[in-house]
Amino acid sequence: MSVKETGVSYYGLSYPEHAEKDFKEMIQHNCNSVILALSEFDIDFWFPNIIKIAKTAKDLGLKVYLDTWGIGKWFGGEPPSIFLNNNTRNRQVSAFTDEPLAAACFNTKAFRDYFYSICERLAVEVEADGFFWDEPHYALPKSYASITGGAGDDWACRCEVCRKNFEGQYGYEMPRIMTREVVSFRENSALEILDEASRRIKAIRPSARIVCCVHATINTYYVKESRGYDDWNKVGKTSSFDVFSTTILSYKLPRSYFKEITQRTVDISRKYGKESQRWLMNYYQQPDDVAEIREIARLYADMGVDSLYAWTYRGGYGTVLAAPNALEMWDMLGEAYGEVLDPKYKIK
Ligand SMILES: [Zn+2]
Repeated sequence: MSVKETGVSYYGLSYPEHAEKDFKEMIQHNCNSVILALSEFDIDFWFPNIIKIAKTAKDLGLKVYLDTWGIGKWFGGEPPSIFLNNNTRNRQVSAFTDEPLAAACFNTKAFRDYFYSICERLAVEVEADGFFWDEPHYALPKSYASITGGAGDDWACRCEVCRKNFEGQYGYEMPRIMTREVVSFRENSALEILDEASRRIKAIRPSARIVCCVHATINTYYVKESRGYDDWNKVGKTSSFDVFSTTILSYKLPRSYFKEITQRTVDISRKYGKESQRWLMNYYQQPDDVAEIREIARLYADMGVDSLYAWTYRGGYGTVLAAPNALEMWDMLGEAYGEVLDPKYKIK
């Protein structure tokens, strides 16, 4: 068995003594690592206890990754953004209507400074093993016909800053149509901020591992979703990233799709000397037979995935996004992890 790491995301964290019980439950469910999903509010308000909670997890033997969850609504996730709350500007702008969107433009100096300062503060003060870049994307990411979403032509960002940067690089006004140059410009700027943040983190904490998790979509010749991180070769070869990860898939999708995405994930990781990570859905939706989770985990393990992760702890129990049988899903995930995790990486 090749799987070295198994884990779940964990949010709503406030008190280390309560988190300790949950971490022990994760270890009983054969997890050896945890992703702390940190909203802007958590970081702003609960910072002293984030330090303690990370230490509690480490003391129990778990590896700890920090997820900049939903920050600026640039990363995936449900939490609201304090940056957007406090800034009427520095927003992404629709290319078709020029309207500002409810997402920060990560190419603006204001947002970059804000994001780097969060990362640096976390790197200095929280004893974590790494950071998790959680589904970063431009607003209005879906474009063209897609298996995971409808067709859409509008895109972002065409704010003043992006337009000025584009014109500086290409020598003409940024088009409203997504040309090849626009695609390239968007992808390069989207990676630039993550690369710089990763470098700053490693300058502070050289052992930090950076996991970059992109949407698990086809992105081939015919179908591309234009989220900005669609060119997996570009993401894979970014030297400051250590793990190439792709997100959860709907259980409604055919198993051949699970295989294809996983093969491409492992291929990109190996090509660029990274470890691979695949995600399992453990909230909201469940397969017709819950035991299929075990088969999918085994499929990923057989295909050579290094790290298996699931969103989220206890199947999202108690949230609006709970799986119908959340706790049953959670127990099945624990069994699946127990079968695929290499025993030498298991927390005793
Ligand atoms: Zn912009």
